[in-house]
Amino acid sequence: MTGTSPLPVYLDHAATTPVDAAVTAAMVECLESPFGFANPSSSHIAGRQSAAAIEHARVQVAGLLNAEPHEIVFTSGATESNNLAILGAARQRASRGRHLVTMTTEHKAVTECFEALEREGFEVTWLNPEMSGLLDPDRLEAVLRDDTQLLSVMHVNNETGIVQDIGSIGAICRARGILYHCDAAQSAGKLEIDLKVLPVDLMSLTAHKFHGPQGIGALYVADRPGSHPAPLIYGGPQERRIRPGTQAVHQIIGFGVAAELAAARREADTEKFRVLRERLWQGIGDLPDLWRNGAEEHTFPGILNVSAGGVDGESLMLGLEPLCVASGAACNSQSGESSYVLRAMGRSDALAQSAIRFSLGRGTRNGEIDRAIERYRWAVQHLRALAPARAATANRA
Ligand SMILES: *Cc1c(COP(=O)(O)O)cnc(C)c1O
Repeated sequence: MTGTSPLPVYLDHAATTPVDAAVTAAMVECLESPFGFANPSSSHIAGRQSAAAIEHARVQVAGLLNAEPHEIVFTSGATESNNLAILGAARQRASRGRHLVTMTTEHKAVTECFEALEREGFEVTWLNPEMSGLLDPDRLEAVLRDDTQLLSVMHVNNETGIVQDIGSIGAICRARGILYHCDAAQSAGKLEIDLKVLPVDLMSLTAHKFHGPQGIGALYVADRPGSHPAPLIYGGPQERRIRPGTQAVHQIIGFGVAAELAAARREADTEKFRVLRERLWQGIGDLPDLWRNGAEEHTFPGILNVSAGGVDGESLMLGLEPLCVASGAACNSQSGESSYVLRAMGRSDALAQSAIRFSLGRGTRNGEIDRAIERYRWAVQHLRALAPARAATANRA
């Protein structure tokens, strides 16, 4: 031992990704330029330059989704986009009906919006996925009613990487005049998304999940009648009054560059993830009583989620250090609850609690995967070896 703490191995890219150097450079250039600070709403030449930079970034972000630039509304991230889409659309369309539909496996930034709408008097149907994690379209059709006005189902799940068939889901909604919102925070910049083809009305994304800065995101609002959400805040003409307030110019510039880089590198990144994830699974998959949460063919290749029988999740997280991964209990660590996403897929409480999410990024290397394999094998075997002793202690108590 040298006394220095071991370097972290960062395999938590589904939580946030390192900012790409080209993104940082563009943001710094904006902040250091003589008029980079100018208010984009000011009509003088400095303000106009700032506004032009925003419009350029809007084209870059729209390009990532094959959307039109005027369909992009800048927000502070996917949490705000989800709130704006769900609260805003439900309230805007309340006269059409007060029935809303979503899934139990959505991110908290979606589920808590629906819980708030329930308190406002809306009625919400909460759909469970199949054991596979996928939504059964027949089950969706069966709950839709004449007064259903909004559906929200995510693209890629943040815990499991499960990819929903948003084309089929959107088509069911469109045929019935139901607005479809999709939380694409985990897929934008990573999977191909063509909004000229996909029947999606509202889509949330965030820059920091694809090597852009934190604190900036967007809501795609389709240029179709009836898709505009009511604003959540008031105070000016910015972002077509859907999201007023002075835009964060340097953040938006960084978002634009990250979007362009993601579009250019997406296919190579995905191929690389496929190889790395296979290396990881090959390295640990032979451990007994190990469960893969999300089948290979239904999951985004940048995420591998595994549960280990007979292992306590919190002890496992400690045993895995210095690996930076997410635990099946991490999102709810204050409450000590196991993953509601995995339980909704039919996993037992114990297996949900022992889940670990490994997530990959553009810079992930073979060596990091190998260290993760070594550490994970050691921690699982070590904890299982301790478990019989602990059970004996519990029996005596
Ligand atoms: C990260 C994430 C969010 C929240 O995004 P922020 O930009 O951190 O607000 C919402 N939904 C999903 C699926 C996410 O992965």
